[in-house]
Amino acid sequence: MRVGFVGLGAMGMHMARNLHRAGLLAAVWNRTPEKARTLAAELNVQAPVTLEALGASVDAVVTCVSADSDVLEVVKELAKSLKPGAIVIDSSTVGAETARKAAEALHPRNVEFLDCPVSGGTEGARDATLAIMVGGSEQAFEGARPILAAMGKTITYFGPTGSGQAAKATNQIMCAGIIEAVSEAMAFARAQGLPLDKIVDTLGKGAGSSWYFVHRAPNMVRGTYPAGFRVRLHEKDLTICRDMAARFGVTLPVVERMLDEYAELIARGYGDEDISATFRLKSELFEK
Ligand code: NDP
Repeated sequence: MRVGFVGLGAMGMHMARNLHRAGLLAAVWNRTPEKARTLAAELNVQAPVTLEALGASVDAVVTCVSADSDVLEVVKELAKSLKPGAIVIDSSTVGAETARKAAEALHPRNVEFLDCPVSGGTEGARDATLAIMVGGSEQAFEGARPILAAMGKTITYFGPTGSGQAAKATNQIMCAGIIEAVSEAMAFARAQGLPLDKIVDTLGKGAGSSWYFVHRAPNMVRGTYPAGFRVRLHEKDLTICRDMAARFGVTLPVVERMLDEYAELIARGYGDEDISATFRLKSELFEK
């Protein structure tokens, strides 16, 4: 199977490399072409100039771009040339509705679409240990299994198109509550004069620990917040969660609080930092 990869960002660059390790990667494409040319030269794969050319040369494409409109733009271009029977596997985090629109755009060409958002951060992408949440037809899922297995460890089929994104939205709500709790607790610990590195080592093994505490509280100790998972991207995800909840007439308190904090961070120019930057705001609570 020849696989193309679109979107060589913080996540995609690692995922493409893992496809290469599995012997599946045939071609890469990135909006800023330099990234694609450099990776293609290193891995000895193709770097077609257009998405259309990439689509014509592969049996499956994995996409990992930013937001809803980006996925739809990319899918529209790929739809021009993908062969009947090809599969588009979108690992971006977007709304369930966008996944359904993408599937509809590909359907007339007999091309399958799977929404396959991922969780596990850039580390999970690098180590091929991502959790992958899949929506689409079961037949396409079975066909895509070797591709998904090259990038992730926990791969779960949730149901029809959009189900993967619904599962991911569930995860993003949890991440919001956890990063807020971790930031607040770390700001509290600092105000108490506690040695923060010992707090991370010790509480990291306690009942209140989490992936975010172990992997991102160290950013708070150092006072640097390299992405990681950008504030802007989680803000985008929480807007998706807000919209999905609004369909039930519900406003989610954790989502709303984090959207307020992210709006503040973005206004101050921290939108491209990791979401652990919310520690900046929590620290200020003790500085008044
Ligand atoms: P980055 O911002 O690092 O990369 C985004 C990539 O998408 C870049 O390659 C960018 O191209 C490309 N892109 C954006 N818009 C378009 C467009 N309109 N057409 C073509 N290409 C486009 O993001 P991440 O890699 O961090 O995230 C990618 C996706 O994965 C997002 O949906 C995010 O929510 C999700 N995700 C991220 C996680 C993380 O920890 N970072 C964890 C789990 C999911 P260019 O190089 O030209 O800018």
